[in-house]
Amino acid sequence: MERFDKSFTRQEPIPEAGIAAAVDVMRSGVLHRYGAEPSQVAALEAEFAAQTGAAHCIAVASGGYAMGCALRALGAAPGDPVLTNAFTLAPVPGAIAAVGAEPVLVETTENLVLDLDDLAERIAASRARVLMLSHMRGHIVDMEALMAICDAAGVAVVEDCAHTMGAAWNGVPSGRWGAVGCYSCQTYKHVNSGEGGLIVTDDADLAARMILLSGSYMLYDRNGTAPDAEVFARHAGTVPNVSGRMDELRAAILRPQIADLPRQVERWNARYRVLEDGFRAAPGLAVIARPQAEAYVGSSIQTIASDPARVPSFVAGCAARGVEWKWFGAERAVGFTSAHRHWGYLAPQRLPRTDAALAGLLDMRVPLTFDLDDCARIGRIVADEAARHLA
Ligand SMILES: *Cc1c(COP(=O)(O)O)cnc(C)c1O
Repeated sequence: MERFDKSFTRQEPIPEAGIAAAVDVMRSGVLHRYGAEPSQVAALEAEFAAQTGAAHCIAVASGGYAMGCALRALGAAPGDPVLTNAFTLAPVPGAIAAVGAEPVLVETTENLVLDLDDLAERIAASRARVLMLSHMRGHIVDMEALMAICDAAGVAVVEDCAHTMGAAWNGVPSGRWGAVGCYSCQTYKHVNSGEGGLIVTDDADLAARMILLSGSYMLYDRNGTAPDAEVFARHAGTVPNVSGRMDELRAAILRPQIADLPRQVERWNARYRVLEDGFRAAPGLAVIARPQAEAYVGSSIQTIASDPARVPSFVAGCAARGVEWKWFGAERAVGFTSAHRHWGYLAPQRLPRTDAALAGLLDMRVPLTFDLDDCARIGRIVADEAARHLA
């Protein structure tokens, strides 16, 4: 029987240029962004803003910090309702809870995107002023339709692009539709500095508030995309310093990875297409339809099993042959698969459509350390085990 023996969590090394730049930073002894001139962090901000076409970028300590910073800058206050996807990862409701706001979960469709009818209903019912939109597992909702609903209701959109750095909808980069886009540089996202986050916005006032929030010791004009002095003058002294800056070492590691992102996206998508072809041949598993307008990054792949009751034996059969799935329908959270019922700090919410989608949802990371032959082999093993357990 065919087996697979590579690790699903093995990352590629940091590019040599990043290692060399990081060594230079360490030799200099200046790891704090506001101590360094020129600063790696400021250069990263300028480069990521240029890549996404944003006026401003702020590099911070994590993706979760980025989301919390955006919420604070938008004025989300304790007790305020903040809308977000019911299907997302724990740091998303966590970022809302961290500012004392109340997550209002919105239903998920069988294509794993936000249910826009439910969004409209929950905006009306909750009177929320902010949507934290999570492009969970890289699936992008119809952004024109979403923005039309939110703009009409005066709801500000923050995009959680942890899984869509490098993706786009109708040619507009993910993170550039809403007021603010947030990205994660944590090891298992699209660029890897261990931990780290990036924020983009065109709004100079929001940018100034987020630069001040992240902690600038009055050196805020050294951000790589700093707004004019008069913009800072409107906000200095009005927002708390909630320290969460990025350091020079991480920025040094990230800059060559940001430059290389388009090539990495191609490599992910080539692997994704081979896996998807393999899974199409698997009985009892449905691949997720990807809309024409969506330019996705295939860094993970999802399928839905038509009979959730048979998922445990299928997952065990694949695991015995070295192929790892994460199942979002499991009773208890394993790894990153927590579901809304596991977030015990929230008031329980009724989300039958999401629950139905998650019951059979299987998720696989697509590491770039796999080659196309590896992906074909995984596809054959999955189809074979599906025929055994799901047919
Ligand atoms: C990883 C992740 C985040 C948060 O990123 P951190 O850098 O780990 O704080 C947010 N949203 C999603 C969907 C994620 O996967």
